[in-house]
Amino acid sequence: MMNKIKVGILGATGAVGQRFVQLLDNHPYFEVTSLAASDKSSGVLYGDLMNKKGFLYGKIPEYSKNIKVEECIPNIDCRLVFSALDSNVAGQIETDFVDAGYIVSTNSKNHRMDDDVPLLIPEVNPDHLSLIKNKSGYIVANPNCSTIGMVLALAPLHKKYGLTKINVVTMQALSGAGYPGVSSMDIIDNVVPYISGEEEKMQTEPIKILGDLKNGRINYAEIDINAQCNRVHVSDGHLESISFGLKNKISIEEIKQTLSEFNPLKDMNLPSSPEQPIIIRDERPQPKKNRMEGNGMSCVVGGIREDNVLGYNLVVLSHNTIRGAAGGAILNAELLYKKGLIK
Ligand code: NAP
Repeated sequence: MMNKIKVGILGATGAVGQRFVQLLDNHPYFEVTSLAASDKSSGVLYGDLMNKKGFLYGKIPEYSKNIKVEECIPNIDCRLVFSALDSNVAGQIETDFVDAGYIVSTNSKNHRMDDDVPLLIPEVNPDHLSLIKNKSGYIVANPNCSTIGMVLALAPLHKKYGLTKINVVTMQALSGAGYPGVSSMDIIDNVVPYISGEEEKMQTEPIKILGDLKNGRINYAEIDINAQCNRVHVSDGHLESISFGLKNKISIEEIKQTLSEFNPLKDMNLPSSPEQPIIIRDERPQPKKNRMEGNGMSCVVGGIREDNVLGYNLVVLSHNTIRGAAGGAILNAELLYKKGLIK
């Protein structure tokens, strides 16, 4: 049996951290040896803490129950940390871990746009891993949870036909706001047409992810993007209505074929990689019905039709705490492992 890589989870008590705890149960490459959170959680057994706070995803995995929660200080026993830290503190803590020689696979926004940090979607820009220069301590970042679904769905079209413009309206789930997150008085019987900082992330991250590498740097893609983000009364799964333009006119059938044929990781056998990264559902995806397709790692696309203003429309659904956060960061780390970047 192979020796598994020791990993820790920073922010293990939150909505995304708990997903990591769930998804890393019996992982073939990684063994969770450390769980860390704020000083108010540290010193307590994870099982006891979760019995009190509530574990969001079914049963608390056995392996985690007797791990004592630590503070997020870079002296924990592991090679790689998954970060699900609140962005108010993630920036400095992640830098401290890198400086101490840890590999950090993060969900937080703080380092996403750093020049030497790959903003990674393994199916889309694995070549950006060459930005990593210091192989002992470095950061690989997940894009924003809505950005991931949108870019995964549009990247195959960009690579083949060239995107020119994107206009996106999101309907984002409650779990995207963390745990306990949004107050029920604010969201029951309501839609909140504002999510702090989200629109800017959706307008900037895609052009980095879809950018080309030149002389060790990324030339950002030239695509005009406008985003409007809304919080809706749904537990998990971000739905996005997208209009987009391409350099050349193509048929709706060509779009469907390009998206359904896209499967660049097919032969790598990464444990978290879904059979199909993009699944087409002509009847149009809905959070309740479709968020767990591909174990929550596929993005589901429907409503592909011509648009009178930009050219084309589609809707995308992706699971925000799985593909959009913990599952995506685990897939990133699996790619690092397969590429020999975890030594
Ligand atoms: P959350 O539920 O609020 O969890 C935040 C975590 O950070 C908790 O474990 C908390 O520990 C820890 N923390 C807070 N202050 C700390 C401090 N001073 N020192 C150490 N740990 C501290 O948030 P979340 O939704 O899981 O999101 C985590 C990160 O992922 C955020 O940066 C978020 O933007 C990003 N993200 C979230 C989603 C999503 O769908 N939710 C998707 C993509 C990316 P305590 O319990 O001890 O306070």
